[in-house]
Amino acid sequence: MARKDLKRMEGERIGVLIIVRYAGEKRWWVRCDCGNERAVDGADLRRRDYSMCRHPEGVELRFWSHVVKTESCWVWVAGLKEDGYGSFRANEKSVIAHRWYWERINGPVEDGMELDHLCRNPACVRPDHLEPVTHQENVLRGNMRSVVIARGFAV
Ligand SMILES: [Zn+2]
Ligand SMILES: [Zn+2]
Repeated sequence: MARKDLKRMEGERIGVLIIVRYAGEKRWWVRCDCGNERAVDGADLRRRDYSMCRHPEGVELRFWSHVVKTESCWVWVAGLKEDGYGSFRANEKSVIAHRWYWERINGPVEDGMELDHLCRNPACVRPDHLEPVTHQENVLRGNMRSVVIARGFAV
């Protein structure tokens, strides 16, 4: 590759990466949208999919890019599962969005416990709208609320 072509690559964007400069020996110094910088093989740059940031510290950045904060709920606006919960990929596995963030703030949910949405909005990821409860309690709360709603409609 001619020197001129190498220069032209600087500043070019490939997915979440920006090429900063040629690093020598067919490697390029790149900066990810999360702020991470490193050298990458030119061949890898052409071959690999850099549409998403895969740096561990970049996961939070990606999380927030999928959230819209309203006055009450923080709503997940990317992929939703059938049950209405948000999901995304973190550390190479699929995770439930609201649980992932709650655990980032509060530590792991205890064994046998589930996170109940106090706001009744399954797409909400706001930690203070969630409460760890037992499965029985979660079911009971869900049932009680649907009974209340059903009665409300009947009146
Ligand atoms: Zn990154
Ligand atoms: Zn909420």
